[in-house]
Amino acid sequence: MIQTSLANLIVFNLVIVLGALAVIWAGKVWAERRRERSRTRHQVVCAVCGHVFEDAARRDTVVTCPGCGRLVERQALMDL
Ligand SMILES: [Zn+2]
Repeated sequence: MIQTSLANLIVFNLVIVLGALAVIWAGKVWAERRRERSRTRHQVVCAVCGHVFEDAARRDTVVTCPGCGRLVERQALMDL
């Protein structure tokens, strides 16, 4: 039988609970970032007029903006 005090038992349980909460929180943040990245993967923002549109075809790095009709270079969206 392991001899321990009540204070050590409380600290040990607190460390386990907080560690589990940290792991769950990190997993949720990771899943949220992954979901956001997959949602905005095909979005393109026009640098000329600011129009946001979807372009699922990832063939070209330059696409035509449906808002203003100009050629737009595909760039990664920044998180705000
Ligand atoms: Zn445009």
